[in-house]
Amino acid sequence: MSSTQQITILGSTGSIGQNTLDVVSRHPDKYAITALTANSDVDRLEQQCLQWQPGYAVMAEPDAAQQLRERLLKTSINTEVLSGNEGLQQVAAMTSVDVVIAGIVGAAGLLPTLAAAQAGKRVLLANKEALVMSGQLFMDAVHSNGAVLLPVDSEHNAIFQCMPAKLPDDPKAAGINKILLTASGGPFRALALGKFADITPEQAVSHPNWVMGQKISVDSATMMNKGLEVIEAHWLFNVPLDGIEVVIHPQSIIHSMVSYADGSILAQLGNPDMRTPIAHCLAWPDRIDSGVEPLDIIEVAKLEFEKPDLSRFPCLRLCYEAMRAGGSATIALNAANEVAVDAFLQHKISFIAIADLIEKVLGEIKQQQISTIDEILEVDASARELATSWLSRLQTV
Ligand code: NAD
Ligand code: MG
Repeated sequence: MSSTQQITILGSTGSIGQNTLDVVSRHPDKYAITALTANSDVDRLEQQCLQWQPGYAVMAEPDAAQQLRERLLKTSINTEVLSGNEGLQQVAAMTSVDVVIAGIVGAAGLLPTLAAAQAGKRVLLANKEALVMSGQLFMDAVHSNGAVLLPVDSEHNAIFQCMPAKLPDDPKAAGINKILLTASGGPFRALALGKFADITPEQAVSHPNWVMGQKISVDSATMMNKGLEVIEAHWLFNVPLDGIEVVIHPQSIIHSMVSYADGSILAQLGNPDMRTPIAHCLAWPDRIDSGVEPLDIIEVAKLEFEKPDLSRFPCLRLCYEAMRAGGSATIALNAANEVAVDAFLQHKISFIAIADLIEKVLGEIKQQQISTIDEILEVDASARELATSWLSRLQTV
């Protein structure tokens, strides 16, 4: 890799954003920060600007941007503060930027992540929702603009590491039988089904193996996260749904596997720490220090695997159904899930109502083929409306 790489971090105040800054801080000779972005957390973005002195800072919320601007004016920092979706897209596509970390959570990340792909950047994708929503359109944007798409999501990063060095266009012809996508099973893997209705947001966000943002933590507890990851793997690796098998692996030490025609299964192992996949993507095809301790396999001693129980995790089933239906279904699935998770976190609906709400929306949304980004945004908006109207009827807590 040549000289210093200029980086934009979309969602720098989040869990992925902060882990990225931790890795970057270990390699000042290799990476520099051009832009940092956040939704509304002025305090944290201000603190990050003071530390990193980026050329640009973007706050999606215009009021928050104004506050940040005023605060930075009182310092010696020359960071230019932009706002809104336009600001996000601008720093994702800037000529001076080499690498864009897509670390925004949810549909809000779609347009800026797409802007980075269209500008031919090296895109480090954590924001799986963007790919779930835009699928083929996103992959086409990557290929037609010479972007390099590298998966940060730990499972997809593991699969990428276990695939041939050049990703095959036709995985079957390259001897790839199956992707084995591992899942910890979240905090409720062994909880009695009868107790699911009483699960609180506080219990749902405390994941046994990973520290993550609130939304993905709830998604892990419902296993919606794994369903979104099946869809993500389908688009990233061009493997059909029946070539992707979800395997429960409670220790989260193997981050996923690839099964080959000759009987080999390749796996990637490591401590559950997102700095490993982030460092892998930053340096690829080289390797750099991530700050993560090497795995002590003697201490781990035991790795277990089991089949997922779809009756415990209806969200996983809904993901398969939406993916098979194709077109608008996966966009509606994602939008309904975002509305449902938000309502659950605000104690408005119960844990089991999350899947109910998504199922209602999928049952009602008009099934259509999707060929433009505008169509994606329209389906996203109407699914949110439908979900919101169902909310009042499902308010069970
Ligand atoms: P988080 O909630 O910790 O951070 C989200 C970031 O996005 C914050 O910087 C926030 O300011 C920004 N943001 C939120 N809403 C926004 C909006 N409307 N406009 C602009 N910016 C907005 O989330 P996270 O856990 O870091 O997850 C980020 C993404 O990475 C998600 O898509 C998640 O699925 C994926 N991911 C996360 C992890 C993890 O370990 N945290 C692992 C794999 C994948
Ligand atoms: Mg993951």
